[in-house]
Amino acid sequence: MSETAYLNGEFLPLDQARVSVLDRGFIFGDGVYEVIPVYSRRPFRLPEHLRRLQHSLDAIRLANPLPAADWARLVQDLIARHGGDDLSIYLQITRGAAKRDHAFPGDAKPTVFMMASPLATPDREKIEHGAAAVSVADFRWLRCDIKSVSLLANCLLRQRAVDAGADEAVLFRDGYLTEGSSSNIFVVRDGKLLAPPKDHLMLPGITYDVVLELAAAKGVAVEVREISEDEVRGAGELWLSSSTKEVLAITTLDGRPVGDGRPGAVFRLIHQAFQDFKRRVMRQAA
Ligand code: PMP
Repeated sequence: MSETAYLNGEFLPLDQARVSVLDRGFIFGDGVYEVIPVYSRRPFRLPEHLRRLQHSLDAIRLANPLPAADWARLVQDLIARHGGDDLSIYLQITRGAAKRDHAFPGDAKPTVFMMASPLATPDREKIEHGAAAVSVADFRWLRCDIKSVSLLANCLLRQRAVDAGADEAVLFRDGYLTEGSSSNIFVVRDGKLLAPPKDHLMLPGITYDVVLELAAAKGVAVEVREISEDEVRGAGELWLSSSTKEVLAITTLDGRPVGDGRPGAVFRLIHQAFQDFKRRVMRQAA
């Protein structure tokens, strides 16, 4: 199965897609993106992803080049052309190609790019043993709610984890938990699920919402509030969530075990609920 792409109105193999070196995405990182998981050929929470895309576009003052119905059609087309069942759809819009100048160009046409690739969710071993994380100071800008393609800071932060042989960087700003380099982070203390509030310091994760909904449905007490670094270090459980990782336990932080060093009971409850929910939603959409 080849990787399938869409660029400015045309479907083509990924290795044939070309954009100008003057594209503001390349020159300035001036663009936004989404990653949409697809299960059994059906996009998961597509309206929510398109709403967040609109939030990102509004925040960078770029008009949405397509109405929601067209995005939905393009996503379905890309899925059909790819031919796989479980996919990750990457979608990016930049401010287009123009003479290099920081100020917005008057006449540039946005570049619209999408690609479909196989969805790589964590394997059984990771789910059963959990992920390793390191703590890093969050030195990103103050608009982390925008899903911007300017990901240099996130790349530097993730590399800190990789350099330490870990999977993810858990970020702290001024002594409080923000999120991961490419995930949201949850804490369990005394059986209660804690989540940082959605604000300008973190990306409002689509999976974050799913996790909180499932916790409420399963009767897990939830508190959305600022979480101090001490509370994270003394947590019984630590999790990450994202569209491609779903929900995953973090079992070591800076080389030390989280809780008893194994995925906890609340994690197992919500992870199972997530798998059941996915199957139910996909059946209903069929
Ligand atoms: N925070 C950051 C910085 C991310 O990059 C991501 C996803 N890639 C998330 C959180 C999780 O968001 P979602 O659940 O929508 O994938």
